[in-house]
Amino acid sequence: MNTDRQPRVALAGMLHESNTFSSDPTDIEDFEGHGLAVGEEVLQEYSAAAHEVGGFIEGGKKHGFELIPILVGNATPGGTVTDRALDRVVGEMIERLQAAGPLDGLLLALHGAMVVESFPDGDAEVMRRLRAALGDELPMVVTHDAHANVAPVEIELSTALVIYKEIPHTDQRERGLQAADILAKILYQGAKPTQAIEKPPMVYNILWHNTNREPMLPLVQEARRLERDNPKILGVSVPPGYQYADVPQMGPSVVVVTDNDPELARSEAKRLAAMMYEHRKVMRLDLPDPAEAVRQAMASTEAPVVLVELGDNIGGGSAGDATFLLAELVKQKAQGWVVPIWDPAAVQEAARLGIGGTFDAEVGGKLDKLHGEPVRIRGTVKLLYDGKYVEPAVRHGGRRYQDQGLSAVIVVEGSDPEQPNLVLLDSERHPPFSLGQLTSAGIDAARQRILVVKAAVAFRAAYEPIAGRIIEVDTGGLTAVNPERFDYKLARTVLEPAG
Ligand SMILES: [Zn+2]
Repeated sequence: MNTDRQPRVALAGMLHESNTFSSDPTDIEDFEGHGLAVGEEVLQEYSAAAHEVGGFIEGGKKHGFELIPILVGNATPGGTVTDRALDRVVGEMIERLQAAGPLDGLLLALHGAMVVESFPDGDAEVMRRLRAALGDELPMVVTHDAHANVAPVEIELSTALVIYKEIPHTDQRERGLQAADILAKILYQGAKPTQAIEKPPMVYNILWHNTNREPMLPLVQEARRLERDNPKILGVSVPPGYQYADVPQMGPSVVVVTDNDPELARSEAKRLAAMMYEHRKVMRLDLPDPAEAVRQAMASTEAPVVLVELGDNIGGGSAGDATFLLAELVKQKAQGWVVPIWDPAAVQEAARLGIGGTFDAEVGGKLDKLHGEPVRIRGTVKLLYDGKYVEPAVRHGGRRYQDQGLSAVIVVEGSDPEQPNLVLLDSERHPPFSLGQLTSAGIDAARQRILVVKAAVAFRAAYEPIAGRIIEVDTGGLTAVNPERFDYKLARTVLEPAG
């Protein structure tokens, strides 16, 4: 390019992680408002953020780009995105890009696991529309989340693809910077990215996604080593993917970007994919079902036992009203348990009865058919409160002022007064990232025998210090970790046997 002037680089993004098993579609309203930044708002919102768009901005300044903020749309993980939402967000993105005048490059943040009604490869569709509007020649460096299910066509649509390396995602800004660095190499040094993708035929189960541990850790270290040691390599990504999407590209990927060396890209992608495929051997899904988990908890001498209801991970977008463990605790007549259930109607019933009232109603299992049957609970309304509390410590999600909405505690009939059986009913879906959820409701978690959490990993910061033992339970629900619990039709590699 002509280097007498600053390169004009546009910033854009549309980010959504779509759970195709959810019956609740993600529509334009879920992107609008707080989740949609346009024009200058993009700079205001993201400049200081630990987000890839923040990295684009920092990198763009470092490399002397003239940055043109276009639009970044964000929606909370949820069901498949509607065609209408895609048309509106990408339509506005394209309008603004076309109004921006001649461009030398585009930095584009996409999640990588977006599924749209008519487009199983939603992120590829965004790129196709941008290519149709802006042409095939414009350098377009794209970022993805490590939960991306990368469609192979993306390496043809993008000029270079850079994907978070870390789970939990602590390198988002770093990846945005890397994308800006690659664009600078293209614009100033004439770099010509060539990309290769490999998709090992496996499900990389979410239970093994922590990149600070084996088996992901050495793979991520190898990706970093290649980027550091080989100047021909511009990027190496090893995303494990997102298993809650029934799409052909579901599963892990290896993406290698080189400077004009397709053979190197291919050979390194193949080598890392083989490393990843070997991980199957340690991924044995050997978790107890609810009946067995409750038996183990009742027999445990270490208390409290935390039962992790993996299929109802609220932070992962699940309902919060699964009853699999609750039903089993009742059935096996366990003592000293606490189960939080999201059930606004049951809270209203408790409020109608008032403190001391005799509660006799079905709780949970009401949102859909995936989270178990409602369970009839008889007992006494012990407490009603507004559900607000403060969490002063550093916890996942970073929130201080917490709110689980109007809440009620029911002491279940037949409880031991020393260690009662308690159902905590709340009106807002509230992930168990803080013990304050229980203490604010007058529940002394450390004195109970069994605590149910609806989570996967993030609860640990709060619960590990008091837990005698933690048992992860293979339960059904929108976030079930066992792929056999889902009826996959499009995903090709789901039931590949391990090892
Ligand atoms: Zn992610």
